[in-house]
Amino acid sequence: MTEQIGIVGGGIVGLALARALARSRDAEVTVLEKETRVATHQTGRNSGVVHAGLYYPPGWLKAELCARGRSMTREYCEEKHLPYREGG
Ligand SMILES: Cc1cc2nc3c(=O)[nH]c(=O)nc-3n(C[C@H](O)[C@H](O)[C@H](O)COP(=O)(O)OP(=O)(O)OC[C@H]3O[C@@H](n4cnc5c(N)ncnc54)[C@H](O)[C@@H]3O)c2cc1C
Repeated sequence: MTEQIGIVGGGIVGLALARALARSRDAEVTVLEKETRVATHQTGRNSGVVHAGLYYPPGWLKAELCARGRSMTREYCEEKHLPYREGG
């Protein structure tokens, strides 16, 4: 049976979650956003830095997730032909 899932907030967290759920489950996912467009708050107004994970001690979950997220972000950008610059 198709699940009905509602997610409140169309920022990066809500949208990424909606994408992951829609791809991994038999679900109809609805994102509820109070603004007229998605990503108008923090997600659309940040510094655009893909964090390397250097600020966290090695072995911390945050460091691990940061490194994993960085690779996933780069792969996603390549796949979708989105600009991604590695500044070093
Ligand atoms: C100045 C600044 C610079 C930053 N720079 C970076 C950076 O360089 N690199 C980085 O990785 N991170 C950066 N961040 C952090 C990053 O932007 C946030 O962690 C991320 O965007 C949070 O995403 P979010 O989806 O949780 O929140 P948001 O993007 O704020 O999305 C929340 C959404 O929920 C909606 N909403 C809220 N309440 C309701 C409701 N009741 N009903 C319906 N919708 C609702 C809002 O309208 C909004 O669209 C920065 C943050 C700031 C503020």
